[in-house]
Amino acid sequence: MKIHEYQAKEILRQFNIPTPIGKLAFSVKEAVEHSQTLLPPVVVKAQIHAGGRGKGGGVKFSKTLKEAEKNAENILGKNLITYQTKKEGQLVKKLLIEKAVNIKHEFYAGMVLDRSSSKITFMVSSEGGVEIEKIAENSPEKIIKEQIDPLLGILPYQARNLAFSLNLKGDVFKNAVRFFLKLYHLYIQTDASLVEINPLVVMQEDEVIALDAKINFDDNSLFRQKNIHALQDLDEEEPTEIEAAKYNMSYIKLDGNIGCMVNGAGLAMATMDIIKLAGEKPANFLDIGGKASADTIEKGFNIILSDKNVKAVLINVFGGIVRCDRVANGVIQAIKNIDVNIPIVVRLQGTNADIAKDILNSSEMNIMGATELNEAAQKVVNTLKK
Ligand code: GDP
Ligand code: MN
Repeated sequence: MKIHEYQAKEILRQFNIPTPIGKLAFSVKEAVEHSQTLLPPVVVKAQIHAGGRGKGGGVKFSKTLKEAEKNAENILGKNLITYQTKKEGQLVKKLLIEKAVNIKHEFYAGMVLDRSSSKITFMVSSEGGVEIEKIAENSPEKIIKEQIDPLLGILPYQARNLAFSLNLKGDVFKNAVRFFLKLYHLYIQTDASLVEINPLVVMQEDEVIALDAKINFDDNSLFRQKNIHALQDLDEEEPTEIEAAKYNMSYIKLDGNIGCMVNGAGLAMATMDIIKLAGEKPANFLDIGGKASADTIEKGFNIILSDKNVKAVLINVFGGIVRCDRVANGVIQAIKNIDVNIPIVVRLQGTNADIAKDILNSSEMNIMGATELNEAAQKVVNTLKK
């Protein structure tokens, strides 16, 4: 789960990590009031779940009240396009108005779970403020990493190594070490999966503060992180993904043309791979779960078809717990109810697969059956060629 910058900064403050002072505004009027309270210069910042706002014109340094007002007018209520948003951009519904700080130096600090080593990677770079992805690609040696064993937690020498690698001295060094230790604590306590402070700023006064903050959380922990779950902003999420979650299905929208309906995450991944191998792109990931009833299948169809890019659907279900004949009946019922008029390829394997085949064959519907996964992928890809 993702949250906004202003929410991430509230969490940082709870962990005694310094941030600029700021206030959230929902209108230009409020933005002006907050600017007045904070005393310009202020920074007007679009709150959307995407980075790169600065370059996209969504972060504006404002010297005077008039400037703050003009900047708020220009950003609020508009679609902000950054390299991380959809191409049409993301609608800005709130602004964070922050007291501007005097920057001496901008660094990068981030933490992410490294699944291959089962450790947490703590990364810092002297090249802060810009796209870290570009630094990782062009000059990876500028990113310094410490691997943290979650059983031991961050050791003080690791935090010092990170601060040393940024060439920090004196009070700034001490402040940075404290910052890193607290940030690790936050990462663990909140069940975060990613924390990024870009830029991490050294101020004129030698204080080390978080000028920007991004925190993602492990969805599997939300049941025990009620306060964090409450921060979810459904305006920023893909509506179809929210809809799917209501029915305990995992759906992730992608940008291909072939809709996929599969049971089991592993099989769903394999199905996406084989579609790519056959020369087309999947339109989504969809795991309908273990109990695929006629109802779930209908809901699944609705979600897949709400994506106008979908030109054909591949259903790939393994009948383990769920019986294939039930799935076949579900497919037929769904097609009748929602008037599906694009090609559908169905591969059902496992319990009662033969009965399922008979049901589909005698339905007189435009459904193509397949036995092997390769064959299923070929068939569905071929329908796009006609
Ligand atoms: P992002 O582009 O979405 O990552 O947004 P950021 O919050 O990182 O802001 C982008 C850039 O705006 C930062 O790297 C800073 O250079 C600049 N910026 C943000 N806040 C301040 C501030 O208080 N003072 C100054 N001088 N620059 C700021
Ligand atoms: Mn940033």
